[in-house]
Amino acid sequence: MAQTPQEVLQMIKEQNIQIIDLKFIDMPGIWQHCSFHVSLIDEDVFTDGIAFDGSSVRGWKAINNSDMTMVPDPTTAWIDPFMEEPTLSMICSIKEPRTGQPYERCPRVVANKAIEYLTSTGIGDTAFFGPEPEFFIFDSVAYQSSMNTGYYKVDSSEGLWNMGREEPGGNLGYKLRNKQGYFPVAPLDTYQDIRTEMLLTMAKCGVPIEKHHHEVATGGQAELGIKFSTLVAAADSVMTYKYVCKNVGRKYGKTVTFMPKPLFGDNGTGMHTHQSVWKDGQPTFAGDQYAGLSQTALYYIGGLLKHAPAVLALTNPSTNSFKRLVPGFEAPVNLAYSQGNRSASVRIPLSGPNPKAKRLEFRCPDPSCNPYLAFAAMLMAGIDGIKNQIHPGEALDVDIYELSPEELAKVPSTPGSLMEALSNLEKDHDFLLAGDVFTEDFIQTWISYKLDNEALPVNIRPHPYEFELYYDI
Ligand code: GLN
Ligand code: MG
Ligand code: MG
Ligand code: MG
Repeated sequence: MAQTPQEVLQMIKEQNIQIIDLKFIDMPGIWQHCSFHVSLIDEDVFTDGIAFDGSSVRGWKAINNSDMTMVPDPTTAWIDPFMEEPTLSMICSIKEPRTGQPYERCPRVVANKAIEYLTSTGIGDTAFFGPEPEFFIFDSVAYQSSMNTGYYKVDSSEGLWNMGREEPGGNLGYKLRNKQGYFPVAPLDTYQDIRTEMLLTMAKCGVPIEKHHHEVATGGQAELGIKFSTLVAAADSVMTYKYVCKNVGRKYGKTVTFMPKPLFGDNGTGMHTHQSVWKDGQPTFAGDQYAGLSQTALYYIGGLLKHAPAVLALTNPSTNSFKRLVPGFEAPVNLAYSQGNRSASVRIPLSGPNPKAKRLEFRCPDPSCNPYLAFAAMLMAGIDGIKNQIHPGEALDVDIYELSPEELAKVPSTPGSLMEALSNLEKDHDFLLAGDVFTEDFIQTWISYKLDNEALPVNIRPHPYEFELYYDI
């Protein structure tokens, strides 16, 4: 992969690239793009950027001057495998054309500032993030009437076995048994080829790949394993991951969804996130405390758990996110930590004797988040824990789903709704403002965007299940 502008220009020449597709991330977390003829790209573009009209980008409308500048990052260059004409793709950060400063509402800028802040504290200089995004592959989604109550129907070649329905003419013989082991070989697994194509395509786009497998839920739930990388690179990888999965899915006539809980009664879609902080090339999370952690790592967990009720407004930022965080589906419902315990929201994986592998896994996040903001928020909570020596309390080495109501009452829970998480964020966000990583303007814009466009509109619509409950009342 290219590292420098010169290498990118070389790549353009060698591969006879005609079109340069520049991508940037909007506030809610969707890639936007604009394509430029190759004649417009030279070395200066990598410092000066290239102008575009940013007027109707979601979350950015408060800027008076709609002209904005995107600056491509040469380390993110890859040839887009889905375009007919040779097209080079690059991920950009945004700067303000008038001041030349990084635009504070650009999520990639926020993520970069989080690393600068980490370095300024002296706690570390590198944060590694290893996200595990899951997703569903469906044949089609017939979705009707978001304006009213409507209905939705999700088809898949595995059928809706667990929901007690069958597809006419569908796969009636080989069904994955609900909750009885999730990755039997073909012909039960009908998604091998599509996952393989997704994984190999992703590698061509610079994502460091490891493995793929069917996930626990029916309906073609899948996970492609990618290797950890530094914070911004890991967030870039999540974006490329989603892009590749959706577009390979499209080739197969399927849709891919990263919605956290598309199927009632089955596992949802998470994005567990492994994380650790390093300094001067050395891991700071390994030590002789609980589960081989250092005191620094325990404080990081303390900060993460303390601020989790607010952090979830960024790591689980959809109304649907909170339908996943319910007992019984391997999703965390309580704010506790433990070694190897998958019901705790912070798990310390058994990582062997190598101190470099010592890390923690935060299991709350889901892939409806904007990964730049989610990773930055988790890191900021962890740094706050380290700076203020927030002890995480005792580890919870029991299956939290099995605790008695009295015991459970002592363990704080994850927020119950997006509304609740946003209100927690309103009350608790000073830890995000440290080092101007997030600005007050950013937090307020986020809260009102999420309330006005998502939480409130969902709340005021009659729900299909309300018809089940009340129609004949
Ligand atoms: N899908 C589960 C979740 O929602 C995780 C399942 C797994 O990876 N073991 O978090
Ligand atoms: Mg996994
Ligand atoms: Mg998984
Ligand atoms: Mg995991």
